[in-house]
Amino acid sequence: MKEKIQAYNSILELIGDTPLIKLNRIIKDFPGNYYAKVESFNPGHSSKDRIALYILEQAEKKGILKPGDTIVETTSGNTGFSLAMVSAIKGYKCILAVSSKSSKDKIAMLQTMGAQVHVCPAHVAADDPRSYYEVAKRIHKETKGSVYINQYFNELNIDAHFKSTGPEIWKQTNGHITHLVACCGTGGTISGTARYLKSKNPEVRVLGIDAYGSVLKKYHETKELDVNEIYPYRIEGLGKNLIPTATDFDSIDKFEKVGDEDSALTARELARLEGLFLGYTSGAAIQGIKQLAEQGEFDSTSNVVVLLPDHGSRYMSKVYSDEWMQEQGFMDSKETTTTSDIEV
Ligand code: PMP
Repeated sequence: MKEKIQAYNSILELIGDTPLIKLNRIIKDFPGNYYAKVESFNPGHSSKDRIALYILEQAEKKGILKPGDTIVETTSGNTGFSLAMVSAIKGYKCILAVSSKSSKDKIAMLQTMGAQVHVCPAHVAADDPRSYYEVAKRIHKETKGSVYINQYFNELNIDAHFKSTGPEIWKQTNGHITHLVACCGTGGTISGTARYLKSKNPEVRVLGIDAYGSVLKKYHETKELDVNEIYPYRIEGLGKNLIPTATDFDSIDKFEKVGDEDSALTARELARLEGLFLGYTSGAAIQGIKQLAEQGEFDSTSNVVVLLPDHGSRYMSKVYSDEWMQEQGFMDSKETTTTSDIEV
């Protein structure tokens, strides 16, 4: 009898079901158990695969999308890559309007996946017709059979995580999770995951990580957008200068802000201490845990799950470049990755 061939129909079947991995060394001297949900195991190397697949499949179900139709979005980051990947497999055209600040590498990655990339000037106001927001809106309006993903203001971004990330964590922890820690950009990851976990156990405490230079934490506390909170920072994908409707602030118990330098150094530590080669915001999330632990947030009964959003390969010219670290003043010029004082 012929053996059945064991193959996936496409890499879309590998989206989600990412592993939960115990952190053994990076969070030392604090009580509790710490587990990382490592989203770089998705085929597009980030959690954004989940929303790309979910939002496109919802549009298909509603009859909005047919093969040959067009996906439009405004990001050069993980969401752009995931949308390009899912579009390539499903036979959609993918048009991404990106800022001229985006690195050449990032633009090349999107084009490699078959996306059409419109590079728009970074220095113009959001309502200028040349801005990437306005260009995306115009392309969407002019293109019949197009879907504008609009991840910061799309409720489906939350649903994607309610349907996948939340149930996976509940199952992987057998319901023993006590704390969820996640970075907030659009807020879709934390909001959807939190809603699911709290529907199972309202006692699960949800802790959001924000960046210094972003408005989210202050907004959570005051319900007002304080423009004084806004200033430039380095971490990409974390925090925001506006209030995204994809964030359900009521599902989050507390925010903690982290800085560029601490987060970069912690991302490097994750590689050396845990063998996890991940992105800048993964460092930010672990840095957030360290700060929260110092504040006494956790005890010996805590089972803390932290979402680590993407892979380290996208940050070779930044966090994992000694030169970049030195330019930022995050590393002494005499210091190199091989002479670290981290005990290994
Ligand atoms: N980390 C990275 C690297 C990201 O690209 C994003 C998305 N902006 C996040 C964290 C935050 O995820 P979310 O948008 O679901 O809040």
